[in-house]
Amino acid sequence: MSERRELVIGHTVLGRPIEAVWFPPAGYAKPRPPALLFAAIHGDEPVSQLMLERLADELIERPPGRETWIVPVVNVDGLLAGTRNNANDVDLNRNFASATWGTQRRPGYNPGAAAEDQPETQAIVKLIDEVKPHRIITVHATYRMVNWDGCAEQLAKEMSERCGYPSQNDMGYPTPGSFGAKYGVEQNLEVITLESPYLMVDEAGWLETRSALRWCVDLPTD
Ligand SMILES: [Zn+2]
Repeated sequence: MSERRELVIGHTVLGRPIEAVWFPPAGYAKPRPPALLFAAIHGDEPVSQLMLERLADELIERPPGRETWIVPVVNVDGLLAGTRNNANDVDLNRNFASATWGTQRRPGYNPGAAAEDQPETQAIVKLIDEVKPHRIITVHATYRMVNWDGCAEQLAKEMSERCGYPSQNDMGYPTPGSFGAKYGVEQNLEVITLESPYLMVDEAGWLETRSALRWCVDLPTD
């Protein structure tokens, strides 16, 4: 059994804790930079929570091949309310302090009054500042693709081979202030946006992506 440590990394607008699960690497693992996986930054994509809860369950049975942080639900208030945005009606995936924040504003997308002014965004930013992950997987719905930014092209290809979803660099529309814009495009980290074709809680969402997600944390698929 692996060691599993749960930590509160921040609180939502409504004061709910945002929880992370931390796993140290297996004793035999080669030194590799940490991985961070987070989901449900959009509250109306509950399949993403299921996928990372299932991955965390597997990591309890067998430790990952690198230090791994999992945040199954970033937008806790939104998930409970069934809304994409947080309780301030901000789209958290437009709230990051990329150079493009607040530009190309499309109707229906609220990036916040200032970049990173939302507590959920701040919790993720602080975690990244402290943990310094090189590989970051963010799980969304419902495009069925492995979208990559920064230096993640090779990883996207490897994940694509394992889940059958196409690997793409372009979402097909501008995403100012998105996580991928800040940490992938600007900081050149290995950033993957895994888009599940499912939306609601559905085991198929996990089963289809299981080996791709295990690959990200260097856990062999048996
Ligand atoms: Zn989303």
